[in-house]
Amino acid sequence: MTVSLNPETGSRRVSAPDTGVLEKTPIERYVAPEKPSLIGLSRAALGEALAAVGVPPAQVKMRVQQLWHWIYLRGTQDFDDMTSVSKELRASLARHFTLARPEVVAEQVSVDGTRKWLLRLPSEHPGERPHEVECVYIPEVDRGTLCLSSQVGCTLNCSFCHTGTQRLVRNLVPGEIVGQIMVARDQLGDWLGVERARGAGLPTQGDRLISNIVMMGMGEPLYNFEAVRDALNLAADGDGLSISRRRITLSTSGVVPMIGRAGAEIGAMLAVSLHAVRDDLRDELVPLNRKYPIAQLLEACRTYPGLSNARRITFEYVMLKGVNDTLADAKALVRLLKGIPAKINLIPFNPWPGTRYECSDWEQIEKFSEVIFNAGYASPVRTPRGRDILAACGQLKSATEKLSARERLALRAMAMTD
Ligand code: SAH
Ligand code: SF4
Repeated sequence: MTVSLNPETGSRRVSAPDTGVLEKTPIERYVAPEKPSLIGLSRAALGEALAAVGVPPAQVKMRVQQLWHWIYLRGTQDFDDMTSVSKELRASLARHFTLARPEVVAEQVSVDGTRKWLLRLPSEHPGERPHEVECVYIPEVDRGTLCLSSQVGCTLNCSFCHTGTQRLVRNLVPGEIVGQIMVARDQLGDWLGVERARGAGLPTQGDRLISNIVMMGMGEPLYNFEAVRDALNLAADGDGLSISRRRITLSTSGVVPMIGRAGAEIGAMLAVSLHAVRDDLRDELVPLNRKYPIAQLLEACRTYPGLSNARRITFEYVMLKGVNDTLADAKALVRLLKGIPAKINLIPFNPWPGTRYECSDWEQIEKFSEVIFNAGYASPVRTPRGRDILAACGQLKSATEKLSARERLALRAMAMTD
């Protein structure tokens, strides 16, 4: 194994000679603040925290239940508002803990109601530039989807992905992952007993503004498995955030050894970033393919726990002009997925400064999607809004990066949660 320092970015790069895979190692780690937040603790850990501040053992279970209600159903941000908890305990909790979530540094709201929050997380070294992640909310009439990040940056280097070029990398802790949901619910007033946000594009049906979650922001969730698992289990907790596992989708670039565990220990819907039908091309687009080639990846998909026609795997396929977008590719894709209960999500490539790729032409995306549709898969390109965004994708080039990123996420999440 060789380790080298990129002089421009400061990132450490580690290449393993046996596989030729180029991966960055995380260069920073999470350092807990002096007064830790209770957000993200499991029931057991919360119980331990309470015991540590003097709650008698016989009361711990009841107190955990009370706190759970205030934290995850009501979104309480101040211990003093927890009226069912004794004054002394509230004061003692406030002395030792916080209910802090990631800090919102910026909010962008699009005309169609899509919202993007830039969140600040603590950096390892005081005084250094803080870590930032994005979290995007995509509302539709009958649902609202939140796109979460699992890492700051990504240790993998997919050649078409902007995140892969990012400098800082660290794993988020469960409280920071679940904290993104908390922040979004705070911003939207999506808590029990709180007045909901109103505005153009927000869902008018269903009882929650945030009904779906996709792990498709920054990072490779299966390279931060435990934290993602713990956070998603909190998200699905029926006495708390209560987002059904069928409405949680985890997207992976193909970390084969972790796919089975993800199914067994999280039980979310799975999305796989396939992007190519041949190993030589996928090696280039998703370098992790050199370690876990297509055949191995699809085998892991076939045995994904709970897979059925009602619980299909979504295969993501980014449309890159002249690279992976021929009709022969489309046919090969259909052949490759034969026998796997699957959905196919075509993603228009979102260009970023310095990239060597272009988004496929709109007509080509349509033709490609038709082959897939004719093979019996729901066509992912169908709403006028999707069409608008698709049409914009080819034109955008390097127009404001933020807007196009939001559009990409919006389109993807729409296709995802259908
Ligand atoms: N690391 C995970 C999840 C985050 S990336 C994964 O790779 O699956 C979420 C999705 O965005 C992936 O399917 C990824 O391939 C896609 N993506 C990344 N960069 C993109 C770009 N520039 N344009 C369109 N899709 C992109
Ligand atoms: Fe990481 Fe996913 Fe981007 Fe690949 S596509 S670099 S795995 S975030």
